[in-house]
Amino acid sequence: MLNIVIFGAPGSGKGTQSEFIVEKYGLNHISTGDVLRAEIKKGSELGKQAKEIMDKGQLLPDDVIINILAATLDSFKESKGCIFDGFPRTIPQAEALKKMLAERGQQVNVMLDLDVPEDELMVRLIKRGQQTGRADDNEATIKNRLNVYHSQTQPLVEWYKKEGLYSHIQGLGSLETIFGDICKAIDGK
Ligand code: ADP
Repeated sequence: MLNIVIFGAPGSGKGTQSEFIVEKYGLNHISTGDVLRAEIKKGSELGKQAKEIMDKGQLLPDDVIINILAATLDSFKESKGCIFDGFPRTIPQAEALKKMLAERGQQVNVMLDLDVPEDELMVRLIKRGQQTGRADDNEATIKNRLNVYHSQTQPLVEWYKKEGLYSHIQGLGSLETIFGDICKAIDGK
């Protein structure tokens, strides 16, 4: 089993690199953001709750997102492992993931921190908003998401360093170069 946490600020390229990783290593991909956007599209109760929070650039409550994650994880049959994209985003979520995997005889093997400068993140997210119309990719919400990232999510860097799982990845450069660095980090574990 190979379990990878792909980490980084909004706009750091987690989704794009996750697709490459899935293709090369044959893993399942869990993007909590994608799961929530699918719920919004369906018009479910969860989707309604999620939309309100996501439009403000805030995080969903830990218990809600942890339950979603457990259900998604258990839906995979004969998995080779998983890439966790957009989760964990808080320390309680990281602790829950550790416990959830341990209960299944597994663990996180590596945490990849895609590091991109803040001005580049803004440029990428505004461009994505223009191209895709994604509701939370507007300037005001982006600023909130970056603030939430710094206050609630970035502390996970220290948490994963203590766990001995942290890998820094330079997130600026060509997609191929970044993916090459990611493969080295994964294969070195
Ligand atoms: P990005 O990384 O660009 O912000 P995501 O698609 O990962 O995009 O997340 C979009 C939004 O979904 C977040 O701003 C948040 O509101 C919600 N969300 C996604 N994952 C989580 C999570 N693990 N915990 C709480 N909220 C989440």
